[in-house]
Amino acid sequence: MKKITTILCVISIINIMISCEKQNRGTSKSDCKDSVNLSEQILIQTADDAVKELINGNKRFCDNKLINTNYKKQIEQTKAGQKPHSVILSCMDSRVPPEIIFDQGIGNIFVLRVAGNIEDDNVVGSMEYALEHAGSKLIVIMAHSHCGAVTGAVKNIKLGNLTQLVDQIKPAIKSSPDNPATIDETAKNSVKITMNDLLSKSEIIRELVKENKVKIVGAFYDIETGVATFME
Ligand SMILES: [Zn+2]
Repeated sequence: MKKITTILCVISIINIMISCEKQNRGTSKSDCKDSVNLSEQILIQTADDAVKELINGNKRFCDNKLINTNYKKQIEQTKAGQKPHSVILSCMDSRVPPEIIFDQGIGNIFVLRVAGNIEDDNVVGSMEYALEHAGSKLIVIMAHSHCGAVTGAVKNIKLGNLTQLVDQIKPAIKSSPDNPATIDETAKNSVKITMNDLLSKSEIIRELVKENKVKIVGAFYDIETGVATFME
């Protein structure tokens, strides 16, 4: 396997200053200062570093103190290549955009999106690319509350090609379809199944995890609060 190089998640001071200036409109100077304090360059060398940055990024998002919003600058910084620290599989739901809810902007994360955040061979192949060729350290499988695809599985809907998609979620249903809590519980169960499926389907992912070079984690995003919680 090619040597995985250090990944530097670059957050330039200029970027922060511009972001800060934007956020400062209508807010106090002290808010801006807090934002700058969060903005030191982040060195991401391990999966744990990547998890930490995603947790911090989601906190910035929830606090409305985004620092990765100077997209023009990020285009400049990434035009010669990319070294995203993580690959995130999430739902297509319009309320769950990973680059925004983790405050990662352009060039810091690979994002794969499909209804119900389920995997298939194309998703697994894309993840293998992210890990082997781009040096990503972390795979995140992220479900969310009130997921339409999971609801479709629980309610046993039939609709064209969507039928086979929701069928893939059904093994995660462990309680009564009539219980309102079943939807979010199923979404979380489905994340765990997907995490195991990645290990059984992909020798590349399995080996990297075994060598402690890559981690797979689950996450659950609450569309009512904006909080992403990482699962044990
Ligand atoms: Zn969804």
